[in-house]
Amino acid sequence: MAEPANNQPVVVTGASGFIAKFVIAELLRRGFAVRGTVRSLAKADSIRVAVARAGANPGPLAFATADLMRDDGWDQALDGARAVIHTASPFPVQQPDNPDDVIAPAREGTLRVLIAAQRAGIPRVVLTSSTVAVMYAASYTPGYVFTEADFTDETRDGLTPYIRSKTLAEKAAWNYVKSKAGAPELAVINPAFVQGPALDDDLSTSHELMRLMAEGHYPASPKIVFPVCDVRDVAAAHVEAMVRPEAAGQRFIVAEGETRLFDIGQRMVAECPDLKGKAPRFELPDAAVRALAVVDKRLRTILPELGSHRVCSSSKARDVLGLKLRGPDEAIRAAARSLRDLKLI
Ligand code: NDP
Repeated sequence: MAEPANNQPVVVTGASGFIAKFVIAELLRRGFAVRGTVRSLAKADSIRVAVARAGANPGPLAFATADLMRDDGWDQALDGARAVIHTASPFPVQQPDNPDDVIAPAREGTLRVLIAAQRAGIPRVVLTSSTVAVMYAASYTPGYVFTEADFTDETRDGLTPYIRSKTLAEKAAWNYVKSKAGAPELAVINPAFVQGPALDDDLSTSHELMRLMAEGHYPASPKIVFPVCDVRDVAAAHVEAMVRPEAAGQRFIVAEGETRLFDIGQRMVAECPDLKGKAPRFELPDAAVRALAVVDKRLRTILPELGSHRVCSSSKARDVLGLKLRGPDEAIRAAARSLRDLKLI
C-alpha cells in the first residue's frame, strides 16, 4: 500500500484502548487521516488529548460509533476507508463468569469488521491478536521457542476465556479471508504482554496490574515469567503491517525478552522508591497460587503460566516489518514513570 495520497482515513477500532491510542498517534505522525471507532463519543475529547500527549497532532482524527456486538454503525464507520486496524476486544483484569462475555465480542466482532470491510471494498485489515493465540498448543516442551507457525489449541483444558477469545477471533479471521472470495487481505499482530507509557487514566489491564501492585494488593507475586513488548513498538508493527505489501497473509509476533511478574514490581520500585513496601516482596509457591485462585478470580488469569517459561521469537517482525524492539526494562520502567507522572501510582 502506497503512502497516503489523499484523505482516505485509516479506521482504528476501539480507539479508546491503550494500544489503539498509540496506533492512532503513529498513523497521524506518518500523515494518515484516522477515523477511530468508539462505543461512546463521550471518550472522543480524552482520546484527542492522549494522542497529542503521544506526540501527534489530533487534527486529522475523526470518530464513529460502533459496538462489536451490534451490526449497526460498521458500514458508516468503514465507509471510504483505505485500511482497517482492528484492535477492539475485551481485555478484562478479571476473567468473567460467562466466557462469552469476552469470546463473543472478540470472535463475532472480528467477523463483523471483516465483513463490513469487504462490503466497503477495503483492501487490507490488520488485526490485533496476541501471543496467547500462539503459545498454548496442545503440548508444551520447556525450551521450545514459539513462532508464527504455532497456534493455541482453544480446546485445551485450563485456558482462560481471554486466551480462548483471542485464539478463536484470530482463527475465525484467517478462516474468513481464506474461504471468502474477494475478502480483504489480512495481516495479524501478535503482541506479548504490552507495557510502555500510559497516556491517561483510562487504564488497560497492562497498567492496572501495576496500579494494583502500587496499592499493595499483591504483597507476594506468583512465580510466573512471560514475554513482554513495548506499546510504541506494537503501534509501529501495526502501521508497517498495513503499508508493506509483503505483510499480507502473515502473522507477526511482537515480543522482546521476558519478565518475571515479581520484576515488574522491582522495576516500578526502581522508578518510584517510595513504593518499596507496596510492591510484591517475595514469590509464592505455585500450590499457594492455585489455592488462592479459588477465591481471587484475578489470579485465575495466570494459572496457565505456573511452572512454565514460554519464549517466542520476533525475528519475523524484525526481518519483514523492519522493527527494532525495546526490551522489558525500558518498557516497564516507562510504564511506571508515566503512571507516576499521571499521579496514578
Ligand atoms: P484496552 O482495554 O485498553 O482496550 C480495549 C478496547 O476494546 C477499548 O477501546 C474498548 O472500548 C474496546 N472494546 C471492548 N469491548 C468492545 C465492544 N463490545 N465493542 C466495541 N469496542 C469494545 O486494551 P488494550 O489496548 O490493552 O488491548 C487492545 C487489543 O490488544 C485487544 O485486542 C487485546 O486483546 C490485545 N492485546 C493486548 C495486550 C496487552 O498486554 N495490553 C497483549 C496482547 C494483545 P471501551 O473503551 O468502550 O471499553
